Amino acid sequence: MNTTIIRNVRPLGGEATDLLLRDGRIDAIGPGLSAEGATVLDATGLIALPGLVDLHTHLREPGREDAETVESGTRSAARGGYTSVFAMANTFPVADTAGVVEQVQRLGEEAGWVDVRPVGAVTVGLAGQQLAELGAMADSRAGVRVFSDDGHCVSDAVLMRRALEYVKAFDGVIAQHAQEPRLTEGAQMHEGTVSAVLGLRGWPSVAEEAIIARDVLLADHVGSRLHVCHLSTKGSVDIVRWAKARGVQVTAEVTPHHLLLTDELVRGYDPVYKVNPPLRTQADVEAVREGLADGTIDVVATDHAPHPVEAKDCEWSAAAMGMTGLETALSVVQHTMVDSGLIGWDTLADRMSSAPARIGRLATHGRPLDVGSPANLVLLDPAARWTVDPAAMATAGRNSPFRDMELPGRVVATFLRGRATVLGSQLVDA
Ligand SMILES: [Zn+2]
Repeated sequence: MNTTIIRNVRPLGGEATDLLLRDGRIDAIGPGLSAEGATVLDATGLIALPGLVDLHTHLREPGREDAETVESGTRSAARGGYTSVFAMANTFPVADTAGVVEQVQRLGEEAGWVDVRPVGAVTVGLAGQQLAELGAMADSRAGVRVFSDDGHCVSDAVLMRRALEYVKAFDGVIAQHAQEPRLTEGAQMHEGTVSAVLGLRGWPSVAEEAIIARDVLLADHVGSRLHVCHLSTKGSVDIVRWAKARGVQVTAEVTPHHLLLTDELVRGYDPVYKVNPPLRTQADVEAVREGLADGTIDVVATDHAPHPVEAKDCEWSAAAMGMTGLETALSVVQHTMVDSGLIGWDTLADRMSSAPARIGRLATHGRPLDVGSPANLVLLDPAARWTVDPAAMATAGRNSPFRDMELPGRVVATFLRGRATVLGSQLVDA
C-alpha cells in the first residue's frame, strides 16, 4: 500500500501540521513526521478536508451513456474532491431492482475513482404507481439505504406513507423530489416577475413547499426518516426549520447553483440555466444560504445532471433540465458560504462530507480527520482562483451554469483510502 506524508497542511483550515497516510488510513498526525519509503507532498498553504460525499449525482449509466458514464462521472467527482457519490435511480433501466443497483455498484468499483452508492427507486419505473422492491435492494450486495424517484415526485400521499413505513425496517431514508405535479404542468422557470416578463409558464414556490409540508407531517406521523432533495425556496427553509423544531426526522439538501444563481439569468433564454427545481429569486438565495449556515439545511448536494450537447443546444422550451456540478461545487460553496463569512471550513466539511455520509449511512466516509480514520480526504488551495471551462472538465457534460465565471479554491489532491486519485489537480490512473 502507498505511504504518503502530507507536509504542512491545515486540517479544516486550522494550524498547519503533517498527516501520515498508511495502509489506507490516517496513521499519524503531528509536525515533523517521517516514515520509511513515504512519498512526501508539500502542502504548504493547502487545507485538508474529509473527502466530499455527494448525496445526489446523476451518473446516467446504464442507458444514457451519451450523457455520462460511471467512468466519466466518477472521474469528475474525484476532480471535484469527492470520495463517494450516491447515484440517482433515473437510469434506463431504472434502478428499481436488486439487479440494477448491483450493476451500478459494480460499475463504480470497476471505475475505482470514488465509492459509488446506488440510490434505489421508490416506485417501479419511477412511475409513482406501486412501490419498488425496496427490501430486496436494501438486502442486495449494494446495501441500498437511500431511495428516491428523483426527477419525479412521489406525489401520491398513500404511496409516500407506505414507502416511509417500509424503509424503517432497514434504517432507510426516502429522498423526495418535492414538486406538486399539477401545479407545475408545463412549467419552464420560477413563477415570478421574470417569468411574467418573458411569458414563460411559471413554476410556483408553493409547488415545492406544499409537498415538503405534507411530507414532514407524514414522516412525523410514521416516525420515519425523510430527506428533502434540492430545496430551493425561502418557504421550504421555513417549513424544514419548523419541522426540525418539532423533532421530525427530516434532513434537507441545497445545490451549489441554488446558493448562487437566480432567475434573472433566464432573461437571455440560455438553456444552460434551465433546471429542476428552477433558479429562484435573490431572497430565496439568501434564505437557503442562511438555512445552510444555521443547520436547517444539512447538506450541499450537486444534483450533477450532465446532458449531451444537443439536449441543451436548442430553444428554451425544448431543452432538458439540469446542470453539471461535481467539479465546481467546492468552489461555489467556498465563494458563497466561506469567503462571505457565513460558515467556516469545519462547517463546510460537515455539510459536504460528514452530514451526507451520515444520512446515507456510509460509515467509511465523512469521518473526522483523526488517527485511525480511513484516508479519504481532499486537499484544496483556498487562495487559488480559476475560470470555469466546461471543455476542460472530466465530466462528459458541457452544461455548466458557471462557465466563464472566476471562482476561488482549487482541488489539488484527492485521496481514496490513501491512494491519490487526483494529484496536482490532475487525475491519477491506478
Ligand atoms: Zn430532482
